Amino acid sequence: MVTIDGSEGEGGGQVLRNACALSLVTGEPFTIENIRGGRDQPGLMRQHLTAIEAACMIGGAECEGMELGSSRIIFRPGSVTGGDYSFAVGTAGSTALVLQTVLVPLALADKPSHLVIEGGTHASMAPPFDFIEKCFLPVFARMGPKVGMRIKRHGFFPRGGGRIEIDIEPAPLRRIECIDRGEPTGRSGSVLYASLDDTIAARFRKAALKSLPDWSNDAIVLRELPADQGPGIALILESGFENVTEIVSGFGKLGLSAERIGRTAGKRMAGYEASGAFAGPYLQDQLLLPMALAGGGAFTSVKISQHTRTAADIIALFTGRGTQFEDAGPKGQLVRIV
Ligand code: ATP
Repeated sequence: MVTIDGSEGEGGGQVLRNACALSLVTGEPFTIENIRGGRDQPGLMRQHLTAIEAACMIGGAECEGMELGSSRIIFRPGSVTGGDYSFAVGTAGSTALVLQTVLVPLALADKPSHLVIEGGTHASMAPPFDFIEKCFLPVFARMGPKVGMRIKRHGFFPRGGGRIEIDIEPAPLRRIECIDRGEPTGRSGSVLYASLDDTIAARFRKAALKSLPDWSNDAIVLRELPADQGPGIALILESGFENVTEIVSGFGKLGLSAERIGRTAGKRMAGYEASGAFAGPYLQDQLLLPMALAGGGAFTSVKISQHTRTAADIIALFTGRGTQFEDAGPKGQLVRIV
């Protein structure tokens, strides 16, 4: 039985999701205390419960302590079975983070899966749909499994109501090395908005472009969604390279100006483009789990995040595999799973 202190390191929900995925794949049960102990409102929230329920459903697992606010669970995995599954977060809690919990176990399962996940698709503190589709999945596909993904409806904070569908074709995970991002292939972006004035979307675009002086003025399009998917607004910036596509996002939030959100996202993209790294700050922590379960792998990345260090610690507990961080000069940091 692996024992985890959920307040260590990043101390957030990712510890729990990675632990569920690792437990399902390795067959090792775990107990976690002080769940999300590093957060202002610790304990299980709706979206974490949905992720654990999803893990139980696909993996014939049993879990004690599954209640809102719970600070301790005991998770005992069964065997993972591919198939048709539906999960609903019920709030704007992230559909992508539920997917993050079940994707790798299902990609290693006995047969293909079709998933429907309902909840938020474009809300802060989680990967937007576009990030999973264009940044994470193409790299994951190089490890073997084929995953297709569609968005049926967008879900913004606080209403949620989004819907994504995913098809997973399992395959053994291959080790890969992602050192060079290759030459630039193109830049684009969109402001997705629903039930809000066009002028707000235009302000997002203008602010982002101001921080991206090398981008052409028509690189970012405004895309209005059906009003019943709103209100909500998200900025998605895409910078393509031969071997990877970085997606930077910004989400509308009460109390934050369109200028500030657009400028922050633009600066983050400018920072990534100026680096020579393969993985941006979020792909970094999300690549560790599949690479560890592939038995190893390496990638270059920007500054190492606390999420990544914490993911590396959890991975070591379940697999005994270590993660090394080295300076990679103009390519940033080299992350290697050994
Ligand atoms: P909490 O921390 O409140 O428990 P949480 O359950 O959302 O919240 P975190 O531990 O913060 O969990 O993990 C968030 C995950 O979402 C990480 O894997 C991180 O890489 C990813 N993520 C966050 N923001 C983005 C973004 N803008 N683009 C891509 N991925 C993101």
